[in-house]
Order: sequence, then structure tokens, then C-alpha cells
Amino acid sequence: MALWKKMLTGIFSGLLAGYMISPHGGQILNEKTLETVLPWISLPGNVFMALISMIVVPLVVSSVTLAVVSGRDVEHLRNTGIGVGLYFVATTIFAVVVGVAIATIVQPGRYVPQELLADAGTRAASLGDLPIVQDRPPLPQMIMSIFPVNPVKALFDKAMLQIVIGAVLLGVALLSIGQKRAAPLVSFMESLQAVSMKFVDWAMLIAPYAVFSFLCGLTAQLGVDTLKAMSVYMGCVLAGLLALLAFYLTLVTVIGRRSPLLFLKHIRDAQILAFSSSSSAATMPITLRVAEDNLKLRPEIADFVIPLGTTINMDGTAIYQMIAALFLAQVFGIDLTLTETCVLAVTIVGASVGSPGTPGVGLVILSTILHNIGVTAEGIAMILAVDRILDMCRTTINVTGDLTASVVMNKLIKP
Ligand code: ASP
Repeated sequence: MALWKKMLTGIFSGLLAGYMISPHGGQILNEKTLETVLPWISLPGNVFMALISMIVVPLVVSSVTLAVVSGRDVEHLRNTGIGVGLYFVATTIFAVVVGVAIATIVQPGRYVPQELLADAGTRAASLGDLPIVQDRPPLPQMIMSIFPVNPVKALFDKAMLQIVIGAVLLGVALLSIGQKRAAPLVSFMESLQAVSMKFVDWAMLIAPYAVFSFLCGLTAQLGVDTLKAMSVYMGCVLAGLLALLAFYLTLVTVIGRRSPLLFLKHIRDAQILAFSSSSSAATMPITLRVAEDNLKLRPEIADFVIPLGTTINMDGTAIYQMIAALFLAQVFGIDLTLTETCVLAVTIVGASVGSPGTPGVGLVILSTILHNIGVTAEGIAMILAVDRILDMCRTTINVTGDLTASVVMNKLIKP
């Protein structure tokens, strides 16, 4: 059976099994037994994540360095960097604008029953000590923070943006010292990349079980009532994500000159994995494989765009943050002027660049922004209840966005 079919089977059987054992659903288990069983259900998922987490850093370092080294020269590289950067910013702005349009037209905040707010108030009390609200550092400090001043620490902390920047600099240095002197380090990187990919192969063997494990664990703990009350808000986010998908498919067709259906078929392994793991960083090795093996993109493009895109290009997260922010402003009766909405949009474009691709961070970063416009912890508690499902969907779009970017760049950047 093809991998995607196995993974889809994992998703559906996970959903069903989770519902059956859930104390809120089929009630095969009660709350207490579920607590004991849950770590076992999560085990295959955690093993999968462990295998991938082990190699994400070496894979990013080797791929980005090799991508830079295989470029023609430093000038070509600079043009590629500028092109990719502009593309990422443009699509993120597009996402935020679509988010504003949907939230303003539909006004999802008007459909929330007052009891839900009160209920969220009770739950917010328990959120009190989460490290949610942090002050943003001043801009020069933020710019400095992208440099891996201590490279070893950056590797240890898995600070992806710093790692990507470090790898680009390493690649540029290798490119400028001449082939002979660069050769040993380049072949080390090639070996490191191949070894990391072997780990990915192993992880993929258990991917269908991991998918089952993610979905089963998730549905077993989910309450259905909140879902109903928040359905208009969720519908808005999903509509936004679908609009983004349509936009990507248009880019793939018009600029990439590929059939959109074939594109979707080629990338489904990555999409299914992103959906079930809610982490574009954990999906990155598979995204890279899909880009090179299925979409047949040039390695120097895929190796550069995918790791960079995973780190800074998150259109799904951006559209979600925009809709969630406007939704909560509506719920709390905060009237945002046009200027305030624009400031909010700019902040969100920046925030989506800074968010690492791990589950739920979109919400944590959003909470800082929400605090600035006057939404309290109750609001965060309210959207937290339905965040995981939206996280799964926006991560899928984030990954699709990175693959679209690679297809477009593969076409626009001449070898
Ligand atoms: N989970 C998302 C990702 O990995 C980030 C987010 O929380 O929006 O792409």
C-alpha cells in the first residue's frame, strides 16, 4: 500500500479509536484510565518525533550549506536570497490581507454566546502563570538576535533562524575559498545530509502508526461542545486557509507551469504528516524529500527554500493570527481603527516570521500581540480550546506554502 494511503488510514482509524475511548464520546475509558493509557497511545508518535528531532539540526545545516555551495557564485546567491525573501514577505502580506477581509465581512465575534466567555474566564485563571506575555525587545536587539553569536549554543537550542543564517554564512565562506580547500568540509556535509536522510527513511516506516497515535490521543481528550460554539470562528480560519491553498495552486499553475492536481498528488505525504503532527519543523525532512524526489526540483533550490521557508514562511499561521486577533477584538468589543488594524497586520507579518514551526506556537506568539490590543487571558483561553484542530490545518498550509515557494523559485531562478 502507498505511504499516503497508510497514513490516511492512520488518521481515520485514530479519529475513530480516539472517539470510542474518549470519556466525552464512546466512553470505553473513564478519565482516570485514559490518563494511564494516554502515554502508551502517544508512544509511536513520540518515537517518530524523536527520530526526526534528532536529525533536524544536522539536516538543516548540511542542506542549507550545500545549497549555497552548489550555487554559481556569491552574486547569484544574493539574487536568489533577495528573490526568496521578497516572495515570502509578499505571500505573508497576502495572507494577512485575506484574513482582515474575512474577519471584517463575516464578523465571527458576533456569534459567540456570552456563557462561553464566562466559562473561558474560569479557565483563564489556570492560565495565569503561563509565560505568555513577554515584552518585545527593541528592533536593533531583534536584528542582532538572528546571528548565532555562539554557534554551539544555537545548535543546542535548536534556534532555527540562527542556524539557517550560520549555514548560509558557512556556505558563502566555502564558496569563496576555492574548491580545493572547501572539498573536505563539503564532502563532510554531503555525508551528514545522507545520514540524516537515512533517519528520515526509518521514521517514515513508523509514520502511519505515528499518525494514528497523534490523532487518537487528540480526539480522546477533545470536548465537542466548545467546538460547536466556536464554529463560525473556526469556519472563518478554515475558509482563509482554503483561500490560501487556492492562491498557491494558482501560483503553481501560472508561474510554476505545473498541473495543480499533480502538484497536490506529489506533496500529499508531507501534507498528511504536517496535518497530523502540527509541526512544520518536524515535517521538514519529508518536505525536502517530496520537493526533490516527487516534484523533481533542483536540489540547490529545494535545499535552500525548504529549510528557510520552514523557519520564516508561515502564511497559514499569519492568516490564523489575523483572524483570531480580529475575532477576539470583536468578542471583547474593542474597536480597532484602520491604523490600529494596519499596525496589527504588520506585527503579525513580523510575528509569523519569528514563530518556530512547532505545535501551538502560533497561539503563544499571538497572545503577546493580543495583550497589546487589550484582549485578556480569557480570550486566549477561549481560542485555546479549539486551537489544536486549527493548528493542524494551518501547519498543512504552511508546508504547502514552502513547497509552492520552491516550485515558483525553481522556475524563476535560472540555474
Ligand atoms: N504549528 C505551526 C507550524 O509548525 C506553527 C503554528 O503554531 O502556527 O507550522
